Amino acid sequence: FNTERFGQHILKNPQIAQTIVDKANLRPTDKVLEVGPGTGNLTVKILEKAKNVTAVEMDPRMAAELTKRIQGKPEQRKLDIIIGDFVKTDLPYFDVCISNTPYQISSPLVFRLLSHRPIFRVAILMFQREFAMRLVAQPGTELWSRLSANVQLYSKVDLVMHVGKNNFRPAPQVESSVVRLVPLNPPPPIKFEEFDGLGRIIFSRRNKMVHATFMAKGVIEMLEKNWRTWCSTQNKMIDEHTNMKAKVEEVLSSSGYSKQRAAKMTLDDLLKLLSAFHEEGIHFA
Ligand code: SAM
Repeated sequence: FNTERFGQHILKNPQIAQTIVDKANLRPTDKVLEVGPGTGNLTVKILEKAKNVTAVEMDPRMAAELTKRIQGKPEQRKLDIIIGDFVKTDLPYFDVCISNTPYQISSPLVFRLLSHRPIFRVAILMFQREFAMRLVAQPGTELWSRLSANVQLYSKVDLVMHVGKNNFRPAPQVESSVVRLVPLNPPPPIKFEEFDGLGRIIFSRRNKMVHATFMAKGVIEMLEKNWRTWCSTQNKMIDEHTNMKAKVEEVLSSSGYSKQRAAKMTLDDLLKLLSAFHEEGIHFA
């Protein structure tokens, strides 16, 4: 195991560890999921407040250290360590997720959490600062991106605090920040693949006008293919004279988004545009 490859930067500042755990507002009945516990600096603080913790740790040496740390203590029976890659591990039920995340899995972590059912209450997560700032970015700002839109469609995210690199051993190259993520419950009835499919196109040229982005090579062809598939699943006759480019242009102009730029489009704008396409049988996944 290589420190950089597995992002093994242990959080050395106990005040920051305590703040992270406090921000979760743990209840004595809470089941907590921790990803990448390392030597357990957060884990021991979580165990003081929660009913139990399932910690998923990929490095068996770290898992062994954590086991040793709580051996013989009353908390021992409250901790369940799963040795394995979080990305491939079946997750148990949990109310709260707390993680000083291995940054290599930031994106898969967020999306796995958001698609997890039943919906959990809150997650407190440490990320590389740039990633954290993209999660909380607002439309019209530099960091507003496909990631921001996808995550904010399903959750409320806010910044908890910045954490400088010197709070870790060994110190990483980059600065970190902690965010709180609260999934919307119930979730909006939007298929992720559809919303993300629109986002992939729109944010591929975030400062271009939406019209130009849709006219780029390959986009119309893809939408036409999706439209044909959709027609056949709906048992709809395919009009061979359909001009997909004109159809797309019509949706863009009637919805009023032709001249808009992705960088400025709000969640609401994106949802309106998606629904205008869907009304015409045009799908993104
Ligand atoms: N949570 C500890 C702390 O705050 O001091 C350790 C944080 S360290 C940045 C990340 C930890 O995640 C390491 O212990 C590493 O071995 C583990 N890890 C890395 N990739 C992982 C993965 N895919 N699944 C589970 N654990 C992983």
